[in-house]
Amino acid sequence: MNYIDEVYENLVRKYPEEKEFHQTAKEVLDSLYKVIAENEELYRKNALLERLVEPERSIVFRTPWEDDKGQIHVNTGYRVQFNGAIGPYKGGLRFHPSVRLGTMKFLAFEQTFKNSLTGLPIGGGKGGSDFDPIGKSDNEIKRFCVSFMTELYRHIGPDRDVPAGDLGVSGKEIGYLFGQYRRIRGSYENGVITGKDLSFGGSKIRPEATGFGITYFLQEMLRDKGEELNGKKIAISGCGNVAWGAAQKMTELGAKIVTLSDPSGYIYAPEGLREEHIRYMLQVRSANLPVGNFSEKFGLEFVPGKRPWERTVDIAVPCATQNELDRRDAENLVKNGVLMICEGSNMPCTLEATEYFDSRGVTLGPSKAANAGGVAVSALEMSQDSIRYSWTEKEVDEKLHGIMKNIFKQSKEMSEKYSVTLAQGANIAGFLKVADAMLKQGNY
Ligand code: NDP
Repeated sequence: MNYIDEVYENLVRKYPEEKEFHQTAKEVLDSLYKVIAENEELYRKNALLERLVEPERSIVFRTPWEDDKGQIHVNTGYRVQFNGAIGPYKGGLRFHPSVRLGTMKFLAFEQTFKNSLTGLPIGGGKGGSDFDPIGKSDNEIKRFCVSFMTELYRHIGPDRDVPAGDLGVSGKEIGYLFGQYRRIRGSYENGVITGKDLSFGGSKIRPEATGFGITYFLQEMLRDKGEELNGKKIAISGCGNVAWGAAQKMTELGAKIVTLSDPSGYIYAPEGLREEHIRYMLQVRSANLPVGNFSEKFGLEFVPGKRPWERTVDIAVPCATQNELDRRDAENLVKNGVLMICEGSNMPCTLEATEYFDSRGVTLGPSKAANAGGVAVSALEMSQDSIRYSWTEKEVDEKLHGIMKNIFKQSKEMSEKYSVTLAQGANIAGFLKVADAMLKQGNY
């Protein structure tokens, strides 16, 4: 049997429940046929692919916390340290009731390739908990973060594993987590976590970085097709951190953002979001308000129970969650003449949707490449913490812009060299660096 198919089938047999992990592993492995064929004997002998799909370490731990009435609850905490060949493990923490070990493995695996693409020295990791912050008081969230870090601290460190935020974990939680880490360690190692407030070692532009990075990546995709962002009609999903950064930068560069969404439905702004709408997104996110509030406050149309992909737009930029755009959505978008898809959230398109876009010649900017700006600025935050110095907004933004251009360039070069899609080219570029480092470090 083909080496790739063998590895994939073994993985599915060994971890039958971890569907999202199968999905991302398949997506990456399917990109590598031509690359593996060039050196199959070497890769097989070193069990390179078997090692690539198995985390170096998965840590699962009990996280008890006390609610405001004195009742104790128990959640499960996770940290998956997937691949540390090119640098300390790096990846966010997700607090969401859907979190399981398979979710963490899927995200940490994706992160490995994404981090490699940034060109910065960071390995792949991810963590989190099935704790649901929605509806919890500030004190309950604080007590949960303290409990979570009381176990996590022994597994992380500025040169070892550096978490950050993700769904359900923003600046507030990062502050509580770092506070507890510092208390336990008794030393000021602020490079242990990123996404911090500016007052204790955060980086300028970090909150905006993922969305700004997506915009810079999209600009490169458009430039490559002889198009430009100015005047393009864009559907964005989600109304969180990534959607906000993307809406802000894309609007600034002349695009019209016509939708935002959450699980309850989407809002439609045919003339494009205005500055006041984008500012209001911050309030919606911090107070967990439903997206329908845009309708009450600004009179924008709210479409309950539907996704934005039914609208006629030039570009779709999913920024909510995994598998939020399926084959039917893809058919709708293509029928309405969509030019390209730029993935903001991690793995937003199902495999069937991606295959459909490929079959219809619609260019897809894959999340591993397009949303790497967040982790890239996190790595720049680590650099600033190490040298105990802060770069200006302009300096960080310029570095981010250069990194995103370079990610597009590498992905494009590999897609041309191996005659594959841009998404597959990104996987190849990410893989080659990690594989090279793994081989050169022996069989660890
Ligand atoms: P947020 O929690 O800030 O925002 C997520 C948004 O998506 C919320 O508005 C949420 O609504 C909405 N949403 C969640 N599930 C659905 C759904 N099924 N249908 C429609 N809307 C939904 O998260 P982020 O913006 O930080 O992250 C979004 C995605 O981007 C995730 O996949 C994350 O892993 C990825 N990412 C984030 C990075 C970052 O720097 N933040 C970096 C790289 C990737 P509600 O709040 O009502 O649930």
